[in-house]
Amino acid sequence: MTSALTLVNISLEYPDGGSTLKALDSVDLAVRRGEFLSLVGPSGSGKSSLLAVAATLVKPTAGLVVIDGQDVSALKDAERTELRRDKVGIIFQQPNLLPALTAVEQLLIREHLRGNPLKDARLKAGELLDVVGLSGASHKRPHQLSGGQRQRVNIARALMGSPTVLLVDEPTAALDHERSDSIVRLLRRVTDEFRTATVMVTHDTEFLPLTDAVATMRDGRISRAAVPSAQPS
Ligand code: ADP
Ligand code: MG
Repeated sequence: MTSALTLVNISLEYPDGGSTLKALDSVDLAVRRGEFLSLVGPSGSGKSSLLAVAATLVKPTAGLVVIDGQDVSALKDAERTELRRDKVGIIFQQPNLLPALTAVEQLLIREHLRGNPLKDARLKAGELLDVVGLSGASHKRPHQLSGGQRQRVNIARALMGSPTVLLVDEPTAALDHERSDSIVRLLRRVTDEFRTATVMVTHDTEFLPLTDAVATMRDGRISRAAVPSAQPS
């Protein structure tokens, strides 16, 4: 069984005054479809850098990124953009919704801008808003939604392209405990239902048991382990 997301010996260096800063140092990681991995580690340890490389938004200094069997470094810029659109869903802490658009329009805007017919997209958007528990709020604008609801719209939007890889950076950082819990549970359900390879950066160690494995970053290096407190089922 091959992995949906594979990182092989990834290094990422940023210029830092006269020298360089190693944000990622020889990182190996493989995530299968349907697997939910949490990524923890102190601030500045390279978690967001790892997601940016996995999302093909940042080219690593060295190493290999393979998404669904495709070696990303072999692709031209336009092909990489297409791969990202077709295979990768990205969810950041701040939902970054467009203030003028309703929830359902947030999900349709990309298809609309591409000039694609919206019939199928509308159907899919409706289904996804249902999955995230917002079918009754599809015509609300961001200011009419709670923080948790906005993050749900964000998640539904990331699923519009049917991604195989779902990258989530601190999705609950702006939410209270109860809403955080329901967002992580939703990501668990989405991972099971859509068989995404999901990587979630989190500070909340109490949510680790909802995930399948935990990778810890420190000074750009990664180590992966089973979830420590997982209960046998
Ligand atoms: P984390 O998400 O774990 O807090 P980051 O991946 O954001 O860590 O950062 C890892 C290291 O890389 C930090 O030392 C940070 O300052 C540095 N860094 C991140 N992005 C950039 C950038 N665009 N330019 C220069 N240095 C960066
Ligand atoms: Mg970060």
